[in-house]
Amino acid sequence: MSAWHLESAQGLRRALDSGEVSAVRLAEHFLARIQASQLNAFIDVNPELTLAQAAQADGRLKAGERTGLLGLPMTHKDIFVTQGWRSTAGSKMLANYVSPFDATVVQKVAQAGAVCLGKTNCDEFAMGGSNENSYFGPARNPWDRERIPGGSSGGAAVSVAAGLAPLATGTDTGGSVRQPASMCGITGIKPTYGRASRFGMIAFASSLDQAGAMGRSALDCAFLLEAMLGFDPRDSTSVQRPAESLASALAPADQAPSVLKGLRIGIPAAFFGEGLDAQVRARIDEALEVLKQAGASLVPIELPNTQLAIPAYYVIAPAEASSNLSRFDGVRYGHRAADPKDLKDLYERSRSEGFGPEVQRRILVGAYVLSHGYYDAYYLQAQKVRRLIANDFAAAFEKVDLIAGPVSPTVAWSIGERMDDPVANYLADIFTLPASLAGLPGMSVPVGRAEAPGAKQALPVGMQLIGPAFSEARLLGVAHAFQSLTTWHLETPAEAA
Ligand code: GLN
Repeated sequence: MSAWHLESAQGLRRALDSGEVSAVRLAEHFLARIQASQLNAFIDVNPELTLAQAAQADGRLKAGERTGLLGLPMTHKDIFVTQGWRSTAGSKMLANYVSPFDATVVQKVAQAGAVCLGKTNCDEFAMGGSNENSYFGPARNPWDRERIPGGSSGGAAVSVAAGLAPLATGTDTGGSVRQPASMCGITGIKPTYGRASRFGMIAFASSLDQAGAMGRSALDCAFLLEAMLGFDPRDSTSVQRPAESLASALAPADQAPSVLKGLRIGIPAAFFGEGLDAQVRARIDEALEVLKQAGASLVPIELPNTQLAIPAYYVIAPAEASSNLSRFDGVRYGHRAADPKDLKDLYERSRSEGFGPEVQRRILVGAYVLSHGYYDAYYLQAQKVRRLIANDFAAAFEKVDLIAGPVSPTVAWSIGERMDDPVANYLADIFTLPASLAGLPGMSVPVGRAEAPGAKQALPVGMQLIGPAFSEARLLGVAHAFQSLTTWHLETPAEAA
């Protein structure tokens, strides 16, 4: 079989285990596709190192070793630092940076035998939801190249959707795994804050940043996520939990729908109001009907503070970003301005030249809301709102097992369309920010496609599932059940043929 890129991670697992294909052969197949692709999904590739990792995996396979990821190719968002590939965070500031160590997540999946195909494009320092804030130019949506893939993990989503990799890591601070997964028609999960190590993830907003897994199906995501999670003493907010087997806990497809019987799914009124595209809403309603037919009950709930998520997030995230990004001073690492007059000039010009406009905007906002006299009015107030949002979820989860709604109010928009309107970009995060602020796990599951004016074809729509803390296994189980009843996750754009 030569269409390895259309195969699920599970199918590739079987082919590797039976010796039908080698890890080297698989890596070559995907590297050739990456080479031929014109979607700007990658910032750095290093075929020599990829093939060396694959050869090592083949050695382990030959010796009889079997793990979920052994020999499986995958991509890493260029927010995770890697020793063998550049680690740029999509920024000119780090355009030539090579890390002396691997992020914990990178190290964990490598130990499990995954083969890294390269580093994927993203919004600069993960700030954005369109991938247009990348110093390396936008990645393109494989369903329509003139459209954004979503962001910030845009290249990651493209790598899976376009058949350039079966699996991808992403990061999600306010929706960056769920939103591009939704816009590219793939599956993505952001786990509970603290479950995946942040060590070696270039920091944006540390109280929100979380690594996540992307793949075609919930089952594929489970394979990857399982290897990513775990306590890490090098991350001060890492949580200690017993290891959980996520993939093998998923029921076989014919029995999977039984998890939906009696499941109480909360439908928040605030997620279905003004601003939600009618066709997106229709796809979500149809998906909810599938869940209902399979025995789930749909329970109307309130998340009354949803509207406040945008202002709260866009105070807290920039505040933390302004602090985290102060380390880029042109002295220790990163871009350094030429011929500085003095130290102040070095700082000023290195940062002005190294950071793009959106990152500069957030540093300015962040420094402002943290400054003396404004801290109470903005930052402290936003923290209080964050608590109210978390309380909304806590109250809802007394009545329901999980919550469902849209991921994004619209399908992917055209590249350039909202470039001059930062607020329009911020508003599009309305449905993903609440779970991020509350630290809860969330998923995006493909539920069909919607027509959009000017689009070459109907574009993917994702349904969001949000669960209580540490409910990843249940979220994946419900998504897997849905995917055993539907085929949306199997649809691929012509680019992936
Ligand atoms: N779109 C959101 C932002 O711009 C979320 C980004 C993210 O999750 N990294 O901040």
